[in-house]
Amino acid sequence: MKHIAILGSTGSIGTQALNVIRRHRDLFAVEVLCAGSNADLLVKQAKEFEPNAVVIADENKYSQVRDALTDSNIKVFAGESSMVDLMEMESVDMVLAAIVGFAGLRPTLRALECGKAVALANKETMVVAGAIVTATAARHHAPIFPVDSEHSAIFQSLIGEVSPIDKILLTASGGPFRGMKREQLESVTLEQALKHPNWSMGRKVTIDSASLMNKGLEVIEAKWLFGVDAKDIEVLVHPQSVVHSMVQFQDGSIKAQLGVPTMETPIQFAFSFPERIESHVPRLNFADYPSLTFEKPDRQTFRCLELAYRAIDKGGNLPCVMNAANEVAVQRFIEGKISFLGIADYVEHAMQTAQFISNPTLYDLFESDKITRSK
Ligand code: NDP
Repeated sequence: MKHIAILGSTGSIGTQALNVIRRHRDLFAVEVLCAGSNADLLVKQAKEFEPNAVVIADENKYSQVRDALTDSNIKVFAGESSMVDLMEMESVDMVLAAIVGFAGLRPTLRALECGKAVALANKETMVVAGAIVTATAARHHAPIFPVDSEHSAIFQSLIGEVSPIDKILLTASGGPFRGMKREQLESVTLEQALKHPNWSMGRKVTIDSASLMNKGLEVIEAKWLFGVDAKDIEVLVHPQSVVHSMVQFQDGSIKAQLGVPTMETPIQFAFSFPERIESHVPRLNFADYPSLTFEKPDRQTFRCLELAYRAIDKGGNLPCVMNAANEVAVQRFIEGKISFLGIADYVEHAMQTAQFISNPTLYDLFESDKITRSK
């Protein structure tokens, strides 16, 4: 039995992970549930899965959660530091890192320091502190299993391979605005940006998908997870979202992982690795996809992808600055305060005006994040 702590249990990834656990109660148990502020859903999940402990990051919701669980043996904590502390629990075998944004960094890093296996959905952790995160994982022999569907596909394509990678082919759906030019993007609305053609996800990652910043973040995540230079990671727009990504080897062979677009497959594989276990997800029927297409992304129109390549080329604290500016800009777009194209403008301005640190410590990264947000 694998005992799992879920960071971000009330989100899109968190709830899908609980679907997987619900169907495989003989293999997986929930040890800890952590949420941001959705107390009602956290309580409902706690009553169903009976974890050892729950954490609500929003301290104002503590009494609500505690009172609702008063008749149970479940321990209730509040605040982000409690979340970090609980990563030390002996009984936790694996941590699913599914908080959105920079907030996921500290607990994920703590889990790795404690030698826990981490199923990583929170790509921002790798974007901001990839060097520190991978070094910490190596030092504490803590394995990282990718949950992002593209990275899971790459991970699966690499199983059994011993030779170096020639190139990663990272697929992208292209989002709801694929094929549009800048003039058309000037007036797009939040509602349009939230209508992803193939995936149902949290709001932040959905907006990132529309701007292609999500793909930029994934290029950086892939660089750190698989030790490949960004120049050897090619983004390919594949609107059907069936080929989840591919790896090309030195002999020219390409391996890919395919399936219908559902996050339950990569989440389950991260939980069950190295085994594959029964899944109810619909099977891919090739006859339903008479044409699988691939095209180059338009990096001039979707400037966020270009900015991400720039950030990874320069390195240091620049990916951290880019990520912080993007989180703030996406939030402002959601609040209706800036336009869709304004997101890239915000990010570029932050990157141009940031104080560059070539070899940042963790402290430097927290400072860079704070300064960028306050600017
Ligand atoms: P959601 O917005 O749906 O969920 C985010 C989760 O994080 C919620 O449980 C939320 O709690 C919690 N949270 C937010 N802020 C804090 C905080 N400060 N402290 C503690 N918990 C917090 O996001 P997704 O599930 O869509 O995405 C999660 C991560 O996975 C992201 O990094 C995303 O890029 C990545 N990812 C997501 C995919 C998807 O299909 N959704 C696919 C691949 C990667 P609450 O709701 O209670 O406030």
